Amino acid sequence: MFICAMGGAAHADVIVIDPAHGGEDFGVRVGRAIEKDITLQVAFYLRQKLQDGGAMVQMTREKDKKISINLRQKSANMAPTLLLVSLHLNAAFDKKQEGFEIYLGDFHKISNGSEGAGGGQNQILGDMLRNHIFNEGVRFATSIEKAMISVLGRKSRGIRQAPMPIFKGASVPTVVIEIGFATNPQEQEKILTKEYQQRIASAIAQGINDAL
Ligand SMILES: [Zn+2]
Repeated sequence: MFICAMGGAAHADVIVIDPAHGGEDFGVRVGRAIEKDITLQVAFYLRQKLQDGGAMVQMTREKDKKISINLRQKSANMAPTLLLVSLHLNAAFDKKQEGFEIYLGDFHKISNGSEGAGGGQNQILGDMLRNHIFNEGVRFATSIEKAMISVLGRKSRGIRQAPMPIFKGASVPTVVIEIGFATNPQEQEKILTKEYQQRIASAIAQGINDAL
């Protein structure tokens, strides 16, 4: 089940927000910071900001519920999706680690497509689609990074590539945002406040809108 809410309908296509984890899957849990709750809260704020800008928005979950990666991707596949943005909270052994980072899938592993099919038209179309998905991901990630630096006044830890499950077989542009570190006491304190969660949402919304 996913939620579709139409704003001013300035864009025909949809932004899908994926608050990571949920239910018995808590994600990162450090002190009062529980990843599944924080990602959901930021997702609600982000939905509001995007809708205020006229975007059509879906969420992969609205409740404290565990859902599979497959279902999260399906929500994005059911509509003409411009971007699937998955929100996470970071953790590190080193408590000094801080800031946000943005992830993209590994271009060469972004598809399920069979390798070594011997070329042909399907292969070419598959390559073009992968190319498009990856390039769009880069475009959104770059714009979101820029907005987060300026709105949050924080240094970016960079746009990185990692083989996260949400990227496997992705058929729409997908970015993962690690909004900050639960393991850094100062950062955790900020991230637990409504004000900072709303600023994160504003920054991401601005980055997405700038890219549209
Ligand atoms: Zn996570």
